[in-house]
Amino acid sequence: MEQLKQKIRSQGIVLSDRVLKVDAFLNHQIDPALMQAIGQEFARRFREDGVTKIVTIEASGIAPAVMAGLELGVPVIFARKHQSLTLTDNLLTASVYSFTKQVESTIAISTNHLSANDRVLIIDDFLANGKAAKGLISIIQQAGASIAGLGIVIEKSFQNGRRELEEAGYRIESLARVQSLADGQVQFID
Ligand code: 5GP
Repeated sequence: MEQLKQKIRSQGIVLSDRVLKVDAFLNHQIDPALMQAIGQEFARRFREDGVTKIVTIEASGIAPAVMAGLELGVPVIFARKHQSLTLTDNLLTASVYSFTKQVESTIAISTNHLSANDRVLIIDDFLANGKAAKGLISIIQQAGASIAGLGIVIEKSFQNGRRELEEAGYRIESLARVQSLADGQVQFID
């Protein structure tokens, strides 16, 4: 997606060989027009796949997921990372190791919102080693729902996430595929 790659080139900050900071438009300040275009692109790619729900993880997956849900006309569920007094229903949970925070945390979705009849599109802001995606997959499987695929805003293709998820049989649609962050430069795959 050229508009996204332009934005990464102009406003992304390479923090290290492995970490890209996109706080200017995705992870802190959000560019709504770009999120709308991202939602439209995910919807275009998954329109024929019978998606009934979108699942993402708080906080940074929510903006692109909501825009995709708007385009596809389906609800969006975000897995919560923190205990909440109001989230007292039966919970489906998974343990996820955070790439950026380097801690293990439990993510949860209420059983009220996912059922075996659902076909789920998973959306997230980044794909690195695939830990967040695998946690979401585990929760969706616990609900007995099927998975249409994964929509990723920024894939870091030099890490293992895509390979492992593809080997497990999942379809991955990434809107920007970063080949390298070496020497402070963002190189895209195509
Ligand atoms: P994974 O679980 O695939 O190893 O990492 C994906 C998660 O870690 C995403 O949900 C995202 O929040 C975070 N993440 C991974 N790599 C980066 C990065 O380079 N920059 C930012 N801002 N977040 C990242």
